[in-house]
Amino acid sequence: MSFTDLPASLASALAERGYETPTPVQQAVLEPEAHGRDLIVSAQTGSGKTIAFGLAFAAQVLDDEGRIRSTEAPLALVIAPTRELALQVSRELDWLYRPAGARIASCVGGMNAQQERRALRGGANIVVGTPGRLRDHLERGALDLSGLGAVVLDEADEMLDMGFREELEHILDATPDGRRVLMFSATMPRPIEAMARRYQHEALRIATAGAA
Ligand code: ADP
Ligand code: MG
Repeated sequence: MSFTDLPASLASALAERGYETPTPVQQAVLEPEAHGRDLIVSAQTGSGKTIAFGLAFAAQVLDDEGRIRSTEAPLALVIAPTRELALQVSRELDWLYRPAGARIASCVGGMNAQQERRALRGGANIVVGTPGRLRDHLERGALDLSGLGAVVLDEADEMLDMGFREELEHILDATPDGRRVLMFSATMPRPIEAMARRYQHEALRIATAGAA
């Protein structure tokens, strides 16, 4: 599997960025056996997990021409532990999905919540945020999760360490049946296994050694 086998919009974004070869974790999520499955992925920091999950949910957000599917509600949700990480993910998904025409909204603590609500109402296709702020938007009815095809827990180990279990469960409980749950982490401690049992179905485990 190489980047050139991807939908044209993604292949051109990666080429423009100068990324030629998938890292091991990116390679693993692109394997046919990972298609459509729930994933529980552990790979060390710096191994390229952001692009890995961005590519993993491509089939849930793109149409047959590689364009973002037009829907009222967001198609993918990424939850990350801190504002800095969430904004970094959001920037990376923004360039990856720009040629596809996607709109990315970020929802993070400390930013203007009203502006975020406008972005959510304005047809965001992919939403990236921190657990507390996402839950706030959900409770106020600003975040519609009914159309989600995939939800990503980025740095799942860190989010549980930071005490976000309740927020994560609240958000996951509001996602529709049949959505994929993609858990990404540097380590896989016991609390993640418990979340995986509760929210995933026959998840494929991927553990890669080595960095990019
Ligand atoms: P992780 O989340 O696993 O810690 P990141 O997703 O932040 O890692 O990626 C680490 C760095 O590697 C980033 O600067 C990212 O843009 C870069 N990177 C990711 N995938 C590739 C690739 N296939 N080719 C070149 N650089 C890449
Ligand atoms: Mg990361």
